[in-house]
Amino acid sequence: MPYPGHGGREGSEGMLISPREKSRLVIVSNRVPAPQDRSAQAGGLAVVLADGLRPGSLWFGWSGKRSAEPAAPTLQEARGISYATTDLTPAEYQTYYQGFSNSALYPLLLYRLGLLRFRGEDFDGYCQVNARFAASLAPLLRPGDRIWVHDYHLFTLPGELRKRGVAAAIGFFLHTPFPPAGLFAVLPHGEVLLRGVCAADVVGFQTAVDRGHFMDAAIEMLGARRRGEDTLWLDGRRIRVVVAPVGIDADGFAAMSRSAHAATATRRLAESIGERALVLSVDRLDHTKGLPERVGAIEAFLNRHPQWRRKVNFLQVAAASRQDVAEYQRLRRNIDRMVGDLNGQAGEPDWTPLRYMTRPVRRPTLAGFQRLARVGLVTPLRDGMNLVAKEFIAAQNPADPGVLVLSKFAGAAETMADALVVNPFDTGAVADALDRALGMALDERQARHAALLAGVRRETAAAFCAGFLAHLSRAAGPAMGLVEIPA
Ligand code: ADP
Repeated sequence: MPYPGHGGREGSEGMLISPREKSRLVIVSNRVPAPQDRSAQAGGLAVVLADGLRPGSLWFGWSGKRSAEPAAPTLQEARGISYATTDLTPAEYQTYYQGFSNSALYPLLLYRLGLLRFRGEDFDGYCQVNARFAASLAPLLRPGDRIWVHDYHLFTLPGELRKRGVAAAIGFFLHTPFPPAGLFAVLPHGEVLLRGVCAADVVGFQTAVDRGHFMDAAIEMLGARRRGEDTLWLDGRRIRVVVAPVGIDADGFAAMSRSAHAATATRRLAESIGERALVLSVDRLDHTKGLPERVGAIEAFLNRHPQWRRKVNFLQVAAASRQDVAEYQRLRRNIDRMVGDLNGQAGEPDWTPLRYMTRPVRRPTLAGFQRLARVGLVTPLRDGMNLVAKEFIAAQNPADPGVLVLSKFAGAAETMADALVVNPFDTGAVADALDRALGMALDERQARHAALLAGVRRETAAAFCAGFLAHLSRAAGPAMGLVEIPA
């Protein structure tokens, strides 16, 4: 193998050092953030990984651009971190990205069989792009690197790297849920994805439920064997299957929300709300976020609990995403219509129950809005984690906190039991939870918030990175473990 001397043997004093400090972290994800999106303000994977990305790290993936003939990866450096990006051809964009990743895999992983659109040429494009990424990345690797592959676009990348002789430690983390094995088995060629990802040393999931589903699928579809709760054996190789919940920079977000509280945008919202209570929802405009069901719940709330009419304003911030996919355009038109119907029927000349915006809102502004909200209404039909729920808790004033109403189908619900946990399909139950949240006494709000905040501050983005990377270093075997430095 081309990787002798994993971890190296350097230094002059007799001591044990961890080669982790020496080994370089290589991140691979579908999209590499553009330079303006690489700051802690921008959100997304750049924020989640901020603590793992040290000077010297390499981040590899798609540039976000399309070109007829993608050349060798473009290398850029910023704050000591190297970014290697490659364009997609229009055909690759269509098959790998729009087709298999977003129209087949994503709906399946989020349990939405009805939205799954499988085409053989999309699957072929997916496998080819994974192979091309591996072929472009392999020459950039150095002995001792630890490679961390992110998300469902790149299931077959670990296997493609191994085919090219890469012996480095490879970790894979899935940000979405993993559905029950029987559901996953619906996907044509699902076993190819499983085999590709099982070439990693560590495979990570947001929740214990997702991990269990993945292990079942690997056992049933590949004949893997389970050893204990976190180990699979396949073809004589050991794969650690771990749970690593993604978190946020809780203290940073709290500070952002405190300073944004005084900003013009927040003050304008506060003035327009007046004495009414603000119920806030923040999502990407996506099928999994349960927006039609949420509008239904708001309607049920106004019918079942009319005493709150004129005393509440709902605000839905829904950033439009994937608007070049027909299914997403339909969803947007549907929600536009539902919001219009609701406001038309329930609104009054001087009161609009549901405010709705699809224009992007800056992250600090959102943090200010969240601090202002009496209720955070977070009701996805299914979600890997849902960081908005954690951001809402971090943004609250602990002396007078708002209440989180959270879907039981968000990964976040596994550790946020002190929220009012609801089934988002049951609009009547969500309506009643809203009534309870709005009427909740201060001491109960404080107790629930304190418990939730403790969890959000424990399970941070930094803890996620450190936890996953520790698993990766351990799983890489003795060559990557502690090395003795000769005196
Ligand atoms: P997902 O990853 O499915 O988009 P999350 O709830 O985990 O959902 O959100 C990820 C990040 O995107 C969070 O930091 C959140 O604040 C941000 N975000 C979500 N919706 C919006 C929006 N409408 N405008 C701006 N940022 C958003």
